[in-house]
Amino acid sequence: MNSLLLTGGRVIDPANHLDSVADLLILNGKIAAVGADATKRASPEIERLDVSGLVVCPGLIDLHVHLREPGQTPKETIATGTTAAARGGFTSLVCMPNTSPAIDNAGTVALIHERAARAGLVNLFVAGAITKNIAGEELASIGSLQRAGVVAITDDGHCVQNNELMRRALEYAKMFDLPVMDHCQDYSLVTQGVMHEGYWSTALGLQGWPAAGEEMIVARNILLAELTGARVHCQHLSAAGSVELLRAAKKRGLPISGEACPHHFTLTDAAVAGSEKFWAADGNLLLSTLNPQPSTKLPEWPAYDTNFKMNPPLRSARDRSAILAGLADGTIEILCSDHAPHCDFEKEVEFDYAPFGITGLETELALSLMQLYHAKRLELPDLIAKFTIAPAKLLRLAKGTLSVGADADVTVFDPDREWLFERGQTASKSFNSPFHGWPLKGRAVATIVSGNKVWIEQSELAAV
Ligand SMILES: [Zn+2]
Repeated sequence: MNSLLLTGGRVIDPANHLDSVADLLILNGKIAAVGADATKRASPEIERLDVSGLVVCPGLIDLHVHLREPGQTPKETIATGTTAAARGGFTSLVCMPNTSPAIDNAGTVALIHERAARAGLVNLFVAGAITKNIAGEELASIGSLQRAGVVAITDDGHCVQNNELMRRALEYAKMFDLPVMDHCQDYSLVTQGVMHEGYWSTALGLQGWPAAGEEMIVARNILLAELTGARVHCQHLSAAGSVELLRAAKKRGLPISGEACPHHFTLTDAAVAGSEKFWAADGNLLLSTLNPQPSTKLPEWPAYDTNFKMNPPLRSARDRSAILAGLADGTIEILCSDHAPHCDFEKEVEFDYAPFGITGLETELALSLMQLYHAKRLELPDLIAKFTIAPAKLLRLAKGTLSVGADADVTVFDPDREWLFERGQTASKSFNSPFHGWPLKGRAVATIVSGNKVWIEQSELAAV
């Protein structure tokens, strides 16, 4: 068991600058060989999978997901969330600590590890909270969280407003060599905003939250990274100004990084006004990658659809372009979903009252391929790096590569496979995606964790 020969795939391992058609041999859950050596060393009884025409890469890592355990299991569980991850091509996740109770102490970290070992289909790493109960007032025991095995700290969903407290958090995190991931949101600027502040918030009569509400904290984080030397990672960047700040800070060699989510580089605030307005305006640019056959019906949704409410919000077309440019030039080195499941009854309320967040594990690979690879902004190895070696490096995980001896976490995907994401198809417990009915391009066909096939798209793969 845990041994497998993948034959004839295009093996792309950005960590080793490898991109060629080759066989990949997995023995006892580890990468044993790539290329001619793999074929030679595979004994006849080893299971073979013909993956010709498909991409074989290190298992994808999503460092920003909400699995809702403990305490919010009607929305998602470790079992359902990791199943959705496997279907999406992900072999490793980092779960956010804004659960109930928050993951702000070693005992809760141990609980997650134990549940993940029992019910998790993929590797699960834990982010601990920066402050006790994510209240932004008193630091959590960062050393004890680190000893319990967290890979980062964050108050995601919230943002530490007190700059002095954030400075101390960074100093502790640096002592323990943990990156601090920050949900960048200045409360005094954002107040009760529910969508991007701009033309559409005015037209729709919804309270806006300005891009500066994010940029202010990105700037703060850059200054504090410089002051403390700690590694700061800005989560789910949505605003053009944030990208500009990050680009300049990285030029100065500061230990700062950023991530982006597909919804922010695919959709815009016009989507909150409904599909008709979106396709007539900002959606136009997507049509070439989204709608190759004129017969494909464009997805429709009404105005004020709460599946388009997330934090940070969908922003303007200019912001979307800036995020794409930041991904293309390497300013933003990590892709993730911010998978944030909510129950239907929670989302089926007026826009103002609905919780922020959408699911994303099953659509993020396709949307990233469409907006970055198919739209010719990034080559496949550069895109794959943002899902593999880049997050692994930030979190110091021994993952994200197909080096001989590494854990055999492998994703096999078809970058050109066209499919429709339908509401009923998801493995998540929740259905709050804005991408229902979207024609997508690119799909995971096999997800392998430590040599075990945890997801196989049967129609695409024939065992030989
Ligand atoms: Zn967040």
